[in-house]
Amino acid sequence: MNTPLGQVTLVGAGPGDPELLTLKAARAIQAASVILVDDLVGEGVLAHARPEARIAYVGKRGGCKSTPQATIEQLMLDAARAGENVVRLKGGDPFIFGRGGEEVESLRRAGIEPVVINGITSGLAAITSLGAPLTHREHAQGVVFVTGHPQKDGPGLDWVRLGESARDLRLTLVIYMGISSAARIQSGLLAALPGDTPVAVIERATLKNQRQCLTSLRELLSDLQQSGLGSPAIMVVGDVVTGVREALRAQALADQSA
Ligand code: SAH
Repeated sequence: MNTPLGQVTLVGAGPGDPELLTLKAARAIQAASVILVDDLVGEGVLAHARPEARIAYVGKRGGCKSTPQATIEQLMLDAARAGENVVRLKGGDPFIFGRGGEEVESLRRAGIEPVVINGITSGLAAITSLGAPLTHREHAQGVVFVTGHPQKDGPGLDWVRLGESARDLRLTLVIYMGISSAARIQSGLLAALPGDTPVAVIERATLKNQRQCLTSLRELLSDLQQSGLGSPAIMVVGDVVTGVREALRAQALADQSA
């Protein structure tokens, strides 16, 4: 007799703070017999796993090579065919720059319809952790989530056009994986947006060692170098950052004179 197919659930682990996990995600992790874990999953999240669950880390840890995408997809399939309850745990939300779409397609091709559980994406959590919004009736009518990392062999995003859209349509830009392309992003956006456009860069958002830098488009690169911020980080560009930038400046002045 054939083993009945197991279930596969793609679970968003949220930005890092385990308190930001959804109840549904916590339940799925608790029910899993096999868990395939990505890089940017906060440690506390796995505390929900059963002690006997088999956990495989398939992300790039400490500079190691990550498991090829095809291998991850095969691991999920093999486990599901063996009747396991498989959870594929991904940082933030599985469907925002997480290759969740590709994994769903590959499972479907094999006749498995996965369940997907949202997580709070880091692009949202990062700016919220500073108390600033992504939209605002006076400053931003919408948000664009973009990757700063160009597709392999691809031309990458047209930052000038994106800057023009942000300016003309009053949109906040949320840039994932942008640190290593910061120079290109800065020069492209500066062709369309004023130099004093506020920018927030938030590293390891919602984790205990979160760091951030509040700056302007003109000073982005120099401030990034000076602060030493690195990946994983989110950049938020737009007037929604103004309020928190001013509040932090005022706080710094108050601290100095205290
Ligand atoms: N699916 C994830 C994004 C994966 S792409 C999500 O929804 O958040 C990986 C990029 O996400 C990183 O390079 C970084 O830009 C961002 N990222 C993920 N976790 C982060 C965190 N805690 N703080 C800041 N940026 C983070």
